Amino acid sequence: MIYLDNASTTRIRPEARAAMASAPFANPSSIHAAGRAARKAVEDARETIADLYGGDPKGLTFTSGATEADNLALFGAAEALRAKGNRIVVSSVEHPAVLEAAERLVKGGFETALAPVDSDGRVILAALEKLLTPGTILVSVMAANNEVGTLQPVAEIAEVCRSRKVLFHTDAAQAAGKIAFKLGADLVTISSHKMHGPRGAGALYVKPGTPIAPLQVGGGQEFERRAGTEAVESIVGFAAAARSMASDLKESAARIERLRTRLEAGMRASTSFKVQGHPKERLPHILSVAFEGCDGEAVVIALDAQGVCVSSGSACASQSMVPSHVLTAMGRSPEETRSTVRFSLGWDTTEADIDAAVALVPPVVKRLRSIAPAGLRPGGAAPAAQAGRP
Ligand code: PLP
Repeated sequence: MIYLDNASTTRIRPEARAAMASAPFANPSSIHAAGRAARKAVEDARETIADLYGGDPKGLTFTSGATEADNLALFGAAEALRAKGNRIVVSSVEHPAVLEAAERLVKGGFETALAPVDSDGRVILAALEKLLTPGTILVSVMAANNEVGTLQPVAEIAEVCRSRKVLFHTDAAQAAGKIAFKLGADLVTISSHKMHGPRGAGALYVKPGTPIAPLQVGGGQEFERRAGTEAVESIVGFAAAARSMASDLKESAARIERLRTRLEAGMRASTSFKVQGHPKERLPHILSVAFEGCDGEAVVIALDAQGVCVSSGSACASQSMVPSHVLTAMGRSPEETRSTVRFSLGWDTTEADIDAAVALVPPVVKRLRSIAPAGLRPGGAAPAAQAGRP
C-alpha cells in the first residue's frame, strides 16, 4: 500500500508505540502507587509537550483530539467572555471543527464573521482587521490549512489581536510536529495522530490567564478545564511522538519537501495539473492539485484500486458532495474544486512510494479525462447538479 493521506492521519512512530506499550494503566486520580505512576506519566507528557513548543505546562489541557480542542476553544471562550461581547471572527478556510462551532454559537446569540482569504488561501489581514468591531471577543485562524497546506500569517494576526485585546485561537493540528512551531496564541489546538502519535489524544493550550469555561464537567481533571479520566496511553504516546518529531524535524521536513517536489515534477512530466495553495508559504507535506477535466473523487477511487491512498478533500468533509469550502473561499470554480486531489506525505514516506505514485497517477488521470462528463472537460458544459454520492 502506498499511503499518501497523512493529512488525514498518520502511522504511529515506533518510539510512540514503545512508550504506549509501557505506559502505566491506572487512573491518574487514584491515590495508590499505581495511580501515582499514571499521574506522573501524564504530567511528564504535559511537561515534554509544553517544553517542546515553548508553553507553560499548566496551560496544556489534554483532550480527545483536535475537534474537541477546537470546540473547547470556541465554546469555552465564548461562554467565559459572554459579558464582554458577542462577536467571533473565524477565517473562511477553518476546519469544520471551528466553522461548525462558530455556527452553533450563532444559534446561542453570538455573531460570527468570516475573514476572507486570497487565491492562495491566505487570510487577508486588512480585511480581518476591519471585522474586529467593538464587542469582538475571539478570533480563530488556523496555523496551516489541512486541504491545501497554506500557512497563515499567525504571528501578525496574534499581534493585531493583542493590540485590540481580543483573544486569539489557532488550530495548529496540521502544523505542530511538521514545521517549527511555538505555542504563541492565547489558545492553541494540537493533535497527536497528525504527527505520528496515537489517535485519541490532542490538546488545547490555554495561555495562563486566558478565560475559558469547561465543556465537560465532572471529575475536575485537567485544571477543571476538561473533566474525565485521562487517556494515559494515548497521552504518553502523544508526548513520545512529539519528542521524536522534534528530534529530526529539520531533516525530515526537508526530506518530505524534496519528496513532494519529486512527486510534483514526476507527475508533471506526463500529465497536467494546477497546484492549489500558496507556492511558498505552504506545509512541506501537502500537495493539492486540480486535474482539469477529471473528477477528483474518481481519481481517489481509481488510485485506491491500485493500492494508492489519497484524498479528494479533507477526510472529514469527504463523506458529502458539498464542494470544498476551502477551495470555494479561494475563488475556485465548482469544476476545479471537484477535480482537486490531495496527496499528503509523512515521516515514513519513501522515495519508492513517490516513484510508484508517479508511475500510477498519470495513466489514471488520462483514462478518466477521456471518459469525463462534458462539464468537467475543458470548455465543456456545466455539470448537472449532483444528487449525492454513488
Ligand atoms: N483541525 C484540523 C486543521 C484538521 O486537519 C483536523 C483533522 O483533519 C481537525 C482539526 C480535526 O481533527 P480530529 O478529527 O482528529 O479531531
